[in-house]
Amino acid sequence: MKIGFIGLGNMGGPMAANLFKAGHEVVGFDTANVKIDGVTMATTGAEAAAGADVVITMLPNGQILRAVADQLIPAMKTGAALVDCSTVDVDSARAVAELAAEAGLLFVDAPVSGGIGGAAGGTLTFMAGGTDDSFAKAEPLFEIMGQKSVHCGDAGAGQSAKICNNMILGVTMVATCEAFALADKLGLDRQKMFDVVSTSSGYSWTMNAYCPAPGIGPQSPADNDYKPGFAAELMLKDLRLSQQAATSANADTPMGELAQALYTQFVEQENGQGMDFSAMLPRFEKRNRS
Ligand code: NAD
Repeated sequence: MKIGFIGLGNMGGPMAANLFKAGHEVVGFDTANVKIDGVTMATTGAEAAAGADVVITMLPNGQILRAVADQLIPAMKTGAALVDCSTVDVDSARAVAELAAEAGLLFVDAPVSGGIGGAAGGTLTFMAGGTDDSFAKAEPLFEIMGQKSVHCGDAGAGQSAKICNNMILGVTMVATCEAFALADKLGLDRQKMFDVVSTSSGYSWTMNAYCPAPGIGPQSPADNDYKPGFAAELMLKDLRLSQQAATSANADTPMGELAQALYTQFVEQENGQGMDFSAMLPRFEKRNRS
């Protein structure tokens, strides 16, 4: 296929490189001066999109996606697919889907899970929203860039799944970190705490696969001075998206709201920016009950 790839940052760069390695022709565009092996760089997004069978976007947020989509859609050929892999708000995904449909294009919102390692290794999980035809067109590319893709429903369903998943992740990380800090104050050895919880009903991905305590459990950002991994500000972005969606859907999400407040405080007032999101543990360690 001829593929246009817009947004070649930490995630988009390696994803585009994997498409090239699998034999596709990839023309890329990024506002930053980037170079990716095998990707021919265009001077505008529209140039990268012209004549492409599929155009993939991997951008920072919904506002940028909407602006970029306005430029890409008129340049794309009828029947081509626009596949947005960014994490954005559900409303932006649906708005772009509508514009694409009006222009005779297919659209899939397909945010990913798996981080930078998953992008480089081609082991991402794609959660996709769109028509059956749109998903069918994008699926072979998901198979190259990832290990699993789930067609979640109509346009917006991929973003809905992503923010629900990441709301659970943020809440669970806070719960795991505050439990470790409590265990410390109760004089419990951290390894014993891990051994019990990781095999008891408190187990979770944040405890078992991404343990926030250094030297305990599998290798994780905690073992690397809390360098991301998954940065606290990206967790905050996703929690904000979850609360924006909860407001527009009139859903009661008190734990998500509290996790958002904690990550806001951590990122904006407690030097959490640039730290892994599991650095909530050293944050809790320093605090007392107030
Ligand atoms: P990034 O900042 O490294 O990459 C974004 C790229 O988009 C940058 O290279 C930037 O120059 C480019 N860009 C910005 N505006 C542009 C425009 N108008 N036209 C063309 N290019 C433009 O971010 P990232 O880590 O690659 O994340 C991308 C998306 O993936 C985000 O929505 C993020 O939430 C999501 N995501 C990231 C991770 C992760 O671990 N990094 C995991 C899952 C999902």
